[in-house]
Amino acid sequence: MRIANSTTSTGPQTSENADNQQTAPVVQCQNVTRSYTGRGSGSLLGRKEHTQTVTAVSDVSVTVRERELVGIAGPSGSGKSTLLHLLAALDVPTSGVVTVNGTDTSSLSERALARMRLNNIGIVFQHFYLLPALSARANVALPLVELGLSRKERRSRASTLLEKVGLGDRESHKPSELSGGEQQRVAIARALSTKPKLLIADEPTGELDTETGASILDLFDDLRDECALVVASHDQQTLDRMDRVVRLQDGERIDDHA
Ligand code: ADP
Ligand code: MG
Repeated sequence: MRIANSTTSTGPQTSENADNQQTAPVVQCQNVTRSYTGRGSGSLLGRKEHTQTVTAVSDVSVTVRERELVGIAGPSGSGKSTLLHLLAALDVPTSGVVTVNGTDTSSLSERALARMRLNNIGIVFQHFYLLPALSARANVALPLVELGLSRKERRSRASTLLEKVGLGDRESHKPSELSGGEQQRVAIARALSTKPKLLIADEPTGELDTETGASILDLFDDLRDECALVVASHDQQTLDRMDRVVRLQDGERIDDHA
């Protein structure tokens, strides 16, 4: 087995067990399955009731370590978002174990899960989800209310982050006054505001043109020293920038991993 040196670039799509031997796991899925069970439509029409089970993620194992940039690839419906929700502790698996920063997510109450997300995880979505009535700075500062930071600290941290994502001169702009790429930068700054160990992004370049998308990927590269990143995408340009890519098809992991 090859022992990788942490300073050596291993290139894309290498085996995760050979990579980053020296760095600690930030999040780990072991044989994780997530099924959704719902009632079939027939019951509404008075027909015989039946249940339907959709297995969105099936027996997937993934480990993401510090300083890694990991892609999740697969066609629409292959389970990427479901897997990200499990890694982000927004959801718990039907079977298998998800461990975030050493803690099994299924062992926590809803309240404890929310606290663990606040302390460990930042999330970025394709559609940004900024609050339209708030300025860029107020959007970035919002998660810090829950962390109990003073107004002065919140403002200062939000300003520093907007500067970092290249929007120091847009602090007071509302989302509607910003381009798509700028809104995504605000969303990334907001996700970073709580100093997460793990940044999770679901199709973060899906709404952006190629050039703007590339600038968001440059930003992710710059964040490596601060947090691990997991990015779901079906865009090859995005996947090419990852250290390695986990490939899903019909909920199963199909890439060659040890
Ligand atoms: P992707 O992000 O790769 O497009 P998803 O994780 O969103 O895939 O979905 C994977 C599969 O799980 C799809 O077949 C989808 O319809 C199903 N699914 C996702 N969320 C739910 C849900 N809340 N209830 C029922 N089925 C779901
Ligand atoms: Mg999705």
